[in-house]
Amino acid sequence: NSHLNPKYTFDSFITGSGNQMAHAAALAVAEEPGVIYNPLFIYGGVGLGKTHLMQAIGHQMIKLEPAAKVKYITSETFTNDFINSIQTRTQDEFRQEYRNVDLLLIDDIQFFAEKEGTQEEFFHTFNELYANSKQIVMTSDRLPNEIPKLQERLVSRFRWGLPVDITAPDLETRIAILRNKAKAENLEIPDDTLSYIAEQVDTNVRELEGALLRVQAYSTMNKEDITKSIAADALKSLKLNNEQNGLTINKIQSRVAKYYRVSVNDLKGKKRVKTIVVPRQIAMYLARELTDKSLPQIGMEFGGKDHTTVMHSCDKISELVAKDDEIKRAVNELKDELRN
Ligand code: ADP
Ligand code: MG
Repeated sequence: NSHLNPKYTFDSFITGSGNQMAHAAALAVAEEPGVIYNPLFIYGGVGLGKTHLMQAIGHQMIKLEPAAKVKYITSETFTNDFINSIQTRTQDEFRQEYRNVDLLLIDDIQFFAEKEGTQEEFFHTFNELYANSKQIVMTSDRLPNEIPKLQERLVSRFRWGLPVDITAPDLETRIAILRNKAKAENLEIPDDTLSYIAEQVDTNVRELEGALLRVQAYSTMNKEDITKSIAADALKSLKLNNEQNGLTINKIQSRVAKYYRVSVNDLKGKKRVKTIVVPRQIAMYLARELTDKSLPQIGMEFGGKDHTTVMHSCDKISELVAKDDEIKRAVNELKDELRN
């Protein structure tokens, strides 16, 4: 019950320039937990293999040491468990559970942002494990010092060990990942087609896998169904274009960029300064409100961001519109203009 996904092993992890360092560090940690890099901090964009690599450490450790206690959780689970333990007065059990492990894998630590109580509790969990030379591995979509309102003492602890990043895979790695995946799933897709997918989808591994499954779906259809699917897709995009009066995400981006005096590239980019983040989130929110594009489609038009990022932005702006008059005014003004 370590909650590991059986597929996320070192064997199924393809290495390339974007993840070589992280892979080497993960292997070293699995072999000598608590000794070399503690904590190991893996960071990078969505769908690039952070969860996979982190869980591979867990599998490997259990393989080498079957009695090892490995615990994998997301930071949200940690937060929820912690809150529950307060409500049910079971904090002792909670502490037992988290501090009595040989390896703690804690995923997407950026969600500790702004959660004071949880950070406090995690600080003690961390110290206890660290003092006993137990290995801690964390992932995040950004560096510790870039996580909003993360206590300085946590930031500094997270830097005690090794921070390694994972970046998007290059073409060769993408092809290798697809071939490996196709083989593992027994998909009969020609190498040419795999290479074509790898060339077209250069954002992240999750989308690469999504594309592979879609192609696979087509390849098992009969000719008639393929024709129907293509027709449905074509008609859908035709209809959307007509309905939307030509309002595109591009137009929304230009208008928002002009309003806030930032560049469209900034809206599509990754800078996390507030003066860009808010306009970016507003642009995503408007794209969601004013077009029929799906969350993944919107994400694509914002430099290949994950659909959860778009969702989070929409939620954030809905929230702000309700409580911040300046944002409300800006959003309404932009909406009116774009509609006409
Ligand atoms: P993240 O946690 O960074 O968002 P995941 O670990 O969930 O990304 O990876 C997304 C998907 O891509 C998973 O199915 C994972 O197995 C796969 N994947 C990512 N990187 C690799 C890789 N280097 N080799 C094989 N599969 C990978
Ligand atoms: Mg993940």
